[in-house]
Amino acid sequence: MSDAQTQKVLDHIDADFDNSLQRLFALLRIKSISADPAFAGDCKAAADHLAGDIASLGFDARVRPTAGHPAVVAKSNGKGNGGGARPHVLFYGHYDVQPVDPLNLWHRPPFEPVVTDHADGRKIIVARGAEDDKGQLMTFIEACRAWKSATGSLPLDITFLIEGEEEVGSKNFAPFLAANKDELKADYALVCDTGMWDPNTPAITTSLRGLVYDEVRIKAARRDLHSGLFGGAARNPIRVLTYILGGLFDENGHITIPGFYDGVKDLPPDILAQWKKLNLTPETFLKPVGLSIPAGEKGRLLIEQVSSRPTCSINGIVGGYTGEGSKTVIPAEASAKISFRLVEGQDPAKIRKAFRDYVTARIPGDCKVEFGDHSMAPAIALPWDMKALSAAKKALTEEWGREAVLFGSGGSIPVVADFKKTLGLESLLVGFGLDDDNIHSPNEKYDLKSFHKGIRSWARILAELAALPR
Ligand SMILES: [Zn+2]
Repeated sequence: MSDAQTQKVLDHIDADFDNSLQRLFALLRIKSISADPAFAGDCKAAADHLAGDIASLGFDARVRPTAGHPAVVAKSNGKGNGGGARPHVLFYGHYDVQPVDPLNLWHRPPFEPVVTDHADGRKIIVARGAEDDKGQLMTFIEACRAWKSATGSLPLDITFLIEGEEEVGSKNFAPFLAANKDELKADYALVCDTGMWDPNTPAITTSLRGLVYDEVRIKAARRDLHSGLFGGAARNPIRVLTYILGGLFDENGHITIPGFYDGVKDLPPDILAQWKKLNLTPETFLKPVGLSIPAGEKGRLLIEQVSSRPTCSINGIVGGYTGEGSKTVIPAEASAKISFRLVEGQDPAKIRKAFRDYVTARIPGDCKVEFGDHSMAPAIALPWDMKALSAAKKALTEEWGREAVLFGSGGSIPVVADFKKTLGLESLLVGFGLDDDNIHSPNEKYDLKSFHKGIRSWARILAELAALPR
């Protein structure tokens, strides 16, 4: 790609931006709420709409049935399976959105998109799905459109895979990938469902933490007991539970389960140096929620504590009398919900077993323990030396005039694990969302700047990716 060609595409994006916005609005008006069966027809309509739009760019685009809401698969070369001379990327997004309740907290109807002013003067697009994920998805589609319109062709081969069940757990997604494995082959995946570092600093998400979520129930006496009659002699399961939970951490914030840190690696020195420069402080990160002192592992940066280090959180604890006033009781059982955020190198099944062994070994006679599992997903880490990563970083840095930040997200995007497991693909995670976008909440928004420069960013990224050797 010549720079002149890329410049032509960028100029086209600027000249056509009002139309891009109208096309986004058309998608935002479709009430594709995946969680509510009453909107199944709207989900189908969103899939049809997208397939039609992408087909107009010369793609072979189809709406494909799944056991749930349909997916859209579209291929730029019409033949599929890569193998050609050009790089081939698989772009992932989702057209479904979260329910809109509580409706009374929206300042405007959620499916009537508008551009309006944010309190601090930023121009924002407000609607359900403005960011998650219709706005983000359209940044990529509009970049493809601009390449086609300005130069007559795309710089590389693209397969679109757009699902309609991300907001309800993507349960038909992995089976769909497996059933259409050959057709979905590519060099790597592009995922546009992540955020920027701040409104002016682009970012690439290079890792996502995994999750193990367990429930522990400790049972002692056959029934609740009077603490005057039995107190002193009877086992109290709350005491057993809190003793065990209290022992999960040492005084430096380390998790004490044997083997918990097995396989956990330190950051490469250059990344650590970059993270130090980002200077995430308690002042900016914790103060807004009324806290001031990081409570994670001592000796780790705050940004490490929330992204590259594993954690254990006690999410809930129940037992005994919790109503009004007092009741002198020794309860028959007590339970807690515990979750672990995992990082690359940790095996979720081993962590679950290590935790259960740790608890079981501390259960005294006369007590029984039961476990319940809620979820389990491995962490994802992009190889730091992946060529597509440096190419995207260069493109983003040029567009925004600030060095793109590579950072780890504390959360999870399960489809990224599916791409790796089922298709053997690494994913490049680039997005233009911001922490204040209110995704899943009333008054969801997307910065107009995120949308405009997001389109320009993808146009540049495609040029850089196209120039990479295969
Ligand atoms: Zn979402």
